[in-house]
Amino acid sequence: MRIGIYPGTFDPITNGHIDIILRSTMIFDQVVVAVTTNQNKSPLFTVEERIEMIRASLKSLDHIEIESFDELLVNYALRKKASALIRGLRATSDFEYEFQMALMNSKLCKDLITVFLMPNEKYTYLNSTIVKEVARLGGSVECFVSHFVNEKLKVKFNLT
Ligand code: ADP
Repeated sequence: MRIGIYPGTFDPITNGHIDIILRSTMIFDQVVVAVTTNQNKSPLFTVEERIEMIRASLKSLDHIEIESFDELLVNYALRKKASALIRGLRATSDFEYEFQMALMNSKLCKDLITVFLMPNEKYTYLNSTIVKEVARLGGSVECFVSHFVNEKLKVKFNLT
């Protein structure tokens, strides 16, 4: 059984994240979408809201588990018996940070590999921060996120 962990903030989940999750299910028997409770990024949504949005945004939950984690990622991955960490790479601008994280994680646990997946090119410019910024200012983000997330953003920014 090949288990892959896809860790992230998912604040909120976008179509780019969904693309990576679907690609991951083609490679792994089980994909764990792991939502960090780390407050460093001052998330807009609570962990519970982020998990709810991930669940509602995926058409099928076959071979997908969604949960939060609150410990060193490599320890969590070992506990879940994962063979790999999954990260998305959009552009070269992602590379330096992702490279550093992957090297650090491999130092902490040499058996855990990091797999990078490229999304469909139409998602390469997309991230949660830009989606929140556009939504906050009243712009339409319906083609970047699921209907459920779109509605949640409107409620959060009092746009309903
Ligand atoms: P983190 O705070 O860990 O970077 P994010 O939710 O921002 O959490 O991202 C989680 C992972 O998803 C990262 O590997 C990021 O590069 C990837 N990702 C985010 N947006 C996209 C996208 N549009 N296409 C592909 N990968 C993405």
